[in-house]
Amino acid sequence: MSLPIVIIGSGFAAYQLVKTLRRQDTEQAITVITANGGDDYAKPDLSHVFTKAQSAKDLIKMSADEFANTYGITLLSHSRVESIDATKKTLRCNGESIAYQQLILATGARAFVPPFRGTRWVESLP
Ligand SMILES: Cc1cc2nc3c(=O)[nH]c(=O)nc-3n(C[C@H](O)[C@H](O)[C@H](O)COP(=O)(O)OP(=O)(O)OC[C@H]3O[C@@H](n4cnc5c(N)ncnc54)[C@H](O)[C@@H]3O)c2cc1C
Repeated sequence: MSLPIVIIGSGFAAYQLVKTLRRQDTEQAITVITANGGDDYAKPDLSHVFTKAQSAKDLIKMSADEFANTYGITLLSHSRVESIDATKKTLRCNGESIAYQQLILATGARAFVPPFRGTRWVESLP
């Protein structure tokens, strides 16, 4: 059996990729590794949680298990990738080494706050 395509992350980018890959190939092994629970939800819906008096569960379109079964993937939730060896095509996660055929980093982004005068961050500089 061929090595899996491994996707790190279970956000919009990762799950759209899973759906696209499955449309092209139903057999290819796919492993999703995610630091969170792996439930499928739309982040922009967070904007309406207070006004609609919703709970976290109300946002879930598909649970992690449902998503994994529907798209035939191996899903490692609550699992943080600690390191990647791109030469050997392996990564370390949960103290184990996982080999991959191809690796996709769908790990999101962090907001950058520009350093302009008036922000607490700049005021605290020496
Ligand atoms: C309130 C709100 C409203 C928004 N509204 C809009 C909108 O109207 N229009 C729009 O275009 N965008 C909007 N966005 C932005 C949009 O939701 C995000 O750009 C998009 O969800 C990012 O998806 P992503 O898959 O790239 O990353 P993320 O959803 O951030 O997913 C990153 C994944 O990587 C995993 N991960 C990271 N590091 C590791 C690691 N080391 N090991 C394992 N897993 C790891 C995380 O657990 C997570 O599953 C909004 C966002 C928010 C919060």
